[in-house]
Amino acid sequence: MARYNGPVCRFCRREGLKLFLKAERCFTDKCSYERNQYPPGQHGQARRPRVSEYGLQLREKQKVKRIYGLLEKQFRAYYTEAVRRKGDTGENLMALLESRLDNTAFRLGFAGSRAQARQMVRHGHVLVNDKRVNIASYSLRAGDVLSVREKGQKLQFVQDALERAINRPQMTWLELDRDKFSGTFTSTPVRAELTLPIQEHLIIELYSR
Ligand code: SF4
Repeated sequence: MARYNGPVCRFCRREGLKLFLKAERCFTDKCSYERNQYPPGQHGQARRPRVSEYGLQLREKQKVKRIYGLLEKQFRAYYTEAVRRKGDTGENLMALLESRLDNTAFRLGFAGSRAQARQMVRHGHVLVNDKRVNIASYSLRAGDVLSVREKGQKLQFVQDALERAINRPQMTWLELDRDKFSGTFTSTPVRAELTLPIQEHLIIELYSR
């Protein structure tokens, strides 16, 4: 699956908030957004014209894509699936994104960022219900148990990430067993449980044009 390998700090500056895409660096004074809180590029510091409605919708979509580390085609496929499902499209979209295996490994604290979690999954360090799954987009269902294989438990970045995650609030739909390096996806999260600053209705409006 294609993925973006370029610099990512520019995304935080473009979206005007910290997206936490680079593990521990995001929590240090090396954070690029903390030092330069203006958009990237030659004209980043120039006065910006008023943003149109379309511009707002586009920025919101780009922001969510970047948070979850997706390319346009992948993100569009999630939107199509969210529309197909019963219920509120925005809620469906967020639920689909949050159910991804790489996202859940990150949320549980086994990786410092979603990109790191994705690499962990790709390298076969993650089990779902005791079976190895190396597809980052794998969609978890209520009751699935995610665990880190023995070899993966010894990885320094996994141990560091777990250590840092102690201070992070635990997600209400996840149950972590830190000693066993495992966690349960107890239920698909509802929108009220997600605290991300996302206005998904803008994304729906954009794709409905
Ligand atoms: Fe964003 Fe992290 Fe880079 Fe800071 S260090 S700009 S939060 S990705």
